[in-house]
Amino acid sequence: MANWCENCDRPEEGDVCTVCGGNIVEPVHGPIPWRWRLFIVASIIYLVWRIYQLISWIVH
Ligand SMILES: [Zn+2]
Repeated sequence: MANWCENCDRPEEGDVCTVCGGNIVEPVHGPIPWRWRLFIVASIIYLVWRIYQLISWIVH
């Protein structure tokens, strides 16, 4: 998972933000950003849908 710059609200690969020059701290504590939760939920729904499709394709 990429690091996240709180100032610029964008992902950053390195330890220092290339835009604002601030230090990037990995989000260890605190709530997960809602974007990540939305992304994770969307990924799970997509995977479940694909598995369901695959199973229904095999059964038929
Ligand atoms: Zn930044």
